Amino acid sequence: MSEEIEHVQCLIIGSGPAGYTAAIYAARADLKPVMYTGMEPGGQLTQTTDVDNFPGYPSGIMGPEMMEDFRKQAERFGTDIRFGYVSSVDFSSLPHKVVVDEIKTITADTVIISTGATAKWLGLPSEQQYNGFGVSACAVCDGFFFKGQDVAIVGAGDTAAEEATYLAKLCKKVYMIVRRDEFRASKAMVHRVLNTPNIEVIYNSETKEILGNGKNVTAVRITNNQTGAETDLPVEGFFVAIGHKPNTDIFKGWLDMDETGYLKTIPGTSKTNIEGVFASGDVQDHYYRQAITAAGSGCMAALDAERYLAAKEHEVKEVI
Ligand code: NDP
Repeated sequence: MSEEIEHVQCLIIGSGPAGYTAAIYAARADLKPVMYTGMEPGGQLTQTTDVDNFPGYPSGIMGPEMMEDFRKQAERFGTDIRFGYVSSVDFSSLPHKVVVDEIKTITADTVIISTGATAKWLGLPSEQQYNGFGVSACAVCDGFFFKGQDVAIVGAGDTAAEEATYLAKLCKKVYMIVRRDEFRASKAMVHRVLNTPNIEVIYNSETKEILGNGKNVTAVRITNNQTGAETDLPVEGFFVAIGHKPNTDIFKGWLDMDETGYLKTIPGTSKTNIEGVFASGDVQDHYYRQAITAAGSGCMAALDAERYLAAKEHEVKEVI
């Protein structure tokens, strides 16, 4: 490892809506933020097509373009945006230490973590081929595009159950593909699904392939894992709701997390269990997972960082 050590006031890890919003606020507060984008600058939204639910874009916008706008706005106030990934952290003492790309050490008075979460996919080539063209991992984001149409959703947890009932309000018919003969979701959610007339639950079934016409999804091929029978369900949309993985591996042992790995924050704040370390966006939110909520929590993290530094400075002055 090289000996090159740089000190920054505010280090932002991750470049989705949360990270960029934190950067805009931190830069305007003169914290001279440095951001490391991670390997996918822009985050999950760069994998989507139309975004119609972010206020301020009355005609909608493509996800990658929106993230480009976020980046430009963060840069306009002087955020130093760098491509690179944080490979390890040491939060044992102040200032915090962060290693980038396994070679560069940075010390930081405050760290804002906005590394996001990654949707789990089934791993089928056709799923990736039609991602954004009928395949989605977010019903709230994309359900609207399938108004009055038939869709399928795979998964049997609370997310899948909630998204299936959400889709049922918009779509003509929702097929829910469940791989076992029972749900994982809570009883209340299952009850809601089973009492929604236009949801058809198909148990013991796995998705074999997503079928399309080269442009859009036209059907999904499922296999019954008890009988081997194959069925093609004609659908225009296919939603994957089999869970998310928060990107928190490098923080294990330092920061409090729930059993899935989502960072825990003090309710109503972005503060983690370590002073000067804040979390925003999907990395600490398994529930809402929206660009707008991530952006809002990025703002909170920057304000929390700014107030933390101001309080520290005040302490120092009082001692002097
Ligand atoms: P979960 O891990 O709870 O559920 C994932 C679901 O996907 C399971 O039913 C699993 O099946 C299924 N699955 C996984 N891999 C595959 C695959 N390859 N093919 C088919 N199915 C697959 O994730 P969720 O996102 O649903 O929930 C995450 C957490 O968030 C949970 O603790 C949940 O309770 C919570 N949550 C709470 C909500 C609420 O309170 N309103 C709303 C949303 C989430 P199997 O069951 O067979 O393993």
